[in-house]
Amino acid sequence: MSDPLERPPLGDLPTDEFRRALHRAADLIADYVDNPQAHRVTPRLAPGGLRALLPPAPPAQGEALDALLDDYQSLIVPNSTHWNHPGFLAYFANSATAPGILGEMLAAALNVNAMLWRTGPAATELEEHVCDWLRQMMDLPPEFRGHINDTASISSLLALAAARQRVGDPSMREAGMSGRSDLPRLTVYASDQAHSSIDKALITLGLGLNSLRRVPVDDAFQMIPAALAERIDADRQAGMRPFAVVATAGSTSTTSIDPLERVAEVARSRGVWLHVDAAYAGSAAICPEIRARMAGMELGDSIVVNPHKWLFTPVDCSVLFLRDPESLRAAFALTPDYLKTTEAGVTNLMDYGPQLGRRFRALKLWMVIRGFGVEGLRARIRRHVELAQEFRGWVAADPRFEICAPSPLSVVCFRLLRGATPEVQDAANDALLASVNADGAVLLSSTRLRGRVVLRVAIGNVRTEREHVHRAWELILAGAGGLPA
Ligand SMILES: *Cc1c(COP(=O)(O)O)cnc(C)c1O
Repeated sequence: MSDPLERPPLGDLPTDEFRRALHRAADLIADYVDNPQAHRVTPRLAPGGLRALLPPAPPAQGEALDALLDDYQSLIVPNSTHWNHPGFLAYFANSATAPGILGEMLAAALNVNAMLWRTGPAATELEEHVCDWLRQMMDLPPEFRGHINDTASISSLLALAAARQRVGDPSMREAGMSGRSDLPRLTVYASDQAHSSIDKALITLGLGLNSLRRVPVDDAFQMIPAALAERIDADRQAGMRPFAVVATAGSTSTTSIDPLERVAEVARSRGVWLHVDAAYAGSAAICPEIRARMAGMELGDSIVVNPHKWLFTPVDCSVLFLRDPESLRAAFALTPDYLKTTEAGVTNLMDYGPQLGRRFRALKLWMVIRGFGVEGLRARIRRHVELAQEFRGWVAADPRFEICAPSPLSVVCFRLLRGATPEVQDAANDALLASVNADGAVLLSSTRLRGRVVLRVAIGNVRTEREHVHRAWELILAGAGGLPA
């Protein structure tokens, strides 16, 4: 018989080693968020550069946690794009804040899988509760119920699945879509500024991209309600079955806000589901004066907002609000025998989408809302809007540049006027973007509006201050100065 003392220990790593590593990680994290500016926003890493530094095969024996943390510090951090950097002015910024990071860490430790109320009672109830806090903050009526997903892309997919089930074809669950001669084309309407996640939702739902009907926008990139009505009516006359409109509150390129009240009226009068994509701008709806610019949001059947965009919650956290949560349940609830439980009147989160298991995302959102308070969150969002307006003023005052869209929130779209033809101007703006981003102090992104390349400055990181926005402007001016006249 072998000596039991000679057997390698099983189970988790020793608690004292873990505790020491946690303390070290706490310092690593606090030092990092205290000064993300110690890094370039984007690393100087060529594709494949990190993999070349990693051992090709996994270690046969366990390594010390300290070695893991050393490599995290020397390999991972310097080769990351720093979304926490205050110079991150690209896409829509996000922020890992102190309360959000705490919530993320603690959720990892607790490791609940809240598929059923029984398997995650606190996670289930906190999700319902914190979503109701957010509902109040966004001034939505009490009938709305929130449901947390990873991303807006998935939230919108679920909303359209609910709409298809409720309005498009109630037999969808059983009959599906293939091999049917009784089913006309089911159509969805969105402006040409709507996010590509809507296209992907239609691909995933088996509706196909041809079912997405693009509604034109006006000069301010807002959907034209009369054009929406015409398109729906024409499609219906042609034998199609319109079932959903996606309005965007805060479009990805320019943050334009569709005229929600008028769009809602078109949807309501035609018996069509209204989904409001407010992935970015929904967070700003917690400020009453900004919420007023989204009047009509409350008329949606579903609304998506990403706290992981502008509500200072670490990625990922997207909240889907449904006026009638039963519509989502009707599309997805299906309980195999091994998941049957006896509690009555509880929410089983697995009923609200295709996924069974789910992580405890509500914890970080709860901590963020409590850590900053509603007023603290509002003040930070208002500051970002102010900074964007100040930046816009600088651009507008310089005749070498052109403002390309209204800035209702914290994004400014502009372009350098350099070059005799639109194509040459596009190339000049691409070159300007590359020169600004090469510096490493800030990161901007670009888009196309009316076919032309446009630069975007988007403010939304919790640490972004005037100096960072001003630095971006200095780099833009220097970059423009360096381009051929
Ligand atoms: C960012 C964004 C999305 C996609 O968000 P994910 O959470 O990354 O899927 C969708 N719609 C709008 C308007 C957005 O701004």
